[in-house]
Amino acid sequence: CGIVAYVGPKDAAPILLEGLQRLEYRGYDSAGLAVVNRGLKVRKVKGRVADLAAAVPARFKGGLGIGHTRWATHGAPSDVNAHPHLDGAERIAVVHNGILENADEIRAKLVADGVDFVSETDTEVLAHLIARAVKETGTLADAVRTALKAVVGTYGIAVVDAERPGEVVVARNGSPIVIGIGEKEMFAASDVAALVRYTRQVVHLEDGELAVLKADGFHTFTMDARETAKVPLTVDWDA
Ligand code: GLU
Repeated sequence: CGIVAYVGPKDAAPILLEGLQRLEYRGYDSAGLAVVNRGLKVRKVKGRVADLAAAVPARFKGGLGIGHTRWATHGAPSDVNAHPHLDGAERIAVVHNGILENADEIRAKLVADGVDFVSETDTEVLAHLIARAVKETGTLADAVRTALKAVVGTYGIAVVDAERPGEVVVARNGSPIVIGIGEKEMFAASDVAALVRYTRQVVHLEDGELAVLKADGFHTFTMDARETAKVPLTVDWDA
């Protein structure tokens, strides 16, 4: 339902929580976030963003993170089914808006291969696919592309890798992702409403586009790894 991501010099958690609050008007049943700080720190709850905020400890420091409000499509609303979803090694964390139509098929193959699933969501397949791919591709962006080539359906996603504490990868197919350009910090969200408090410079991803965000900038590319050129827009709205 709602996505917020941050990379930069500030602590990500308060920015993610504030952004998720701005997306509350869309409706949701659960909320969660992950920050990268010597491994992944994750909290997720069935309920309100305020409940999530109360569950996030002050020690969740670190300038890279992703947050989500979920509107359940696959699996009941619960703490476990809330996003982010992780691979078994707790290296990759994914938040996802949309519906993966072939998730059951992929899940069955991964289970046959010995992968343990902890949730009932379609989204969890992405965490396992990306974790497998990153060992081979070397870059998170290539791993995300590889995983997305295996899925059919709609997505806006944001992904972090505990072993790459300086970047977040986002991608879009049928579910919006907007990048927010800050001063030595970058944001992404499913809706510009989550960003306007922090920046007015935005770039909208097209379907089939991905982006790598680092504190000092971003680049966008297609599912075939061709770079795309984007012109930032200035949002003039009152936050
Ligand atoms: N299909 C995913 C789930 O059920 C994402 C739902 C959403 O867009 O919030 O967890």
